[in-house]
Amino acid sequence: MAIANGSRTAVDKLAVLGWKALDVLYPPHCPFCGNLTKAGICGQCRQSLPYIMEPRCMKCGKPIKREDEEYCRDCARMRRGYDQGRSVWTHTGSVPHAIYQFKFHNKRYHAKLFAGEMVRLYGDWIGRCGIEAVVPVPLHSSRRRKRGFNQAELLARELGRRMQIPVYARAVFRIRNTRPQKQLDGRERQENLKGAFAVSKRWNCPKSVLLVDDIYTTGSTIHRIAGLLKKAGVQKVYFMTISIGQDK
Ligand SMILES: [Zn+2]
Ligand SMILES: [Zn+2]
Repeated sequence: MAIANGSRTAVDKLAVLGWKALDVLYPPHCPFCGNLTKAGICGQCRQSLPYIMEPRCMKCGKPIKREDEEYCRDCARMRRGYDQGRSVWTHTGSVPHAIYQFKFHNKRYHAKLFAGEMVRLYGDWIGRCGIEAVVPVPLHSSRRRKRGFNQAELLARELGRRMQIPVYARAVFRIRNTRPQKQLDGRERQENLKGAFAVSKRWNCPKSVLLVDDIYTTGSTIHRIAGLLKKAGVQKVYFMTISIGQDK
């Protein structure tokens, strides 16, 4: 008995050590400043993060300076394939670093946090839009294999679960691998995306779709996919991203 008790204690001790090791590997820290916190985003960052508020562009949702304007500069001069979109933060301050960590340093668990903010701030908006399906912006399969996951899909799954809306991660796919968009200007971005995506023929298109991605830069990716979805029969296409570039 003494041995059994002894071994159980040893197992318990090992279990505790195991949890402690997990805590060291994945300590609950704020994705923006790295401070240890059980609250997800720490209080200080909550105060200082560039949350988007009114007035915002009626189309892409980015903040605009004047209340009497309806659209940002880009949306005022360009046709958009989508209907409307929302993002949690502008792509400034500590936001780019947190998203970079999420994508390239395997901080997959940040998806919960980012999706949590999306729902907290825009759950009502998603409800009003009558979204029937959540669709992540796809990565090419080779890039997905290299990274091990598609960050947009992780966000979409968290969002869908919280809003109880089905997620279709294979509805849109990338046929062709493209050059990273950040190296290109607006016109090159559009060219680069030609023939890059397709909508699955087996998908029974719903009336309204929410496209999910990590960053909205010029909007060319979302514009293009929205166009394809509409051609396939979707009537309304909305988008949601963690961050969005500022109006120039
Ligand atoms: Zn923080
Ligand atoms: Zn806009």
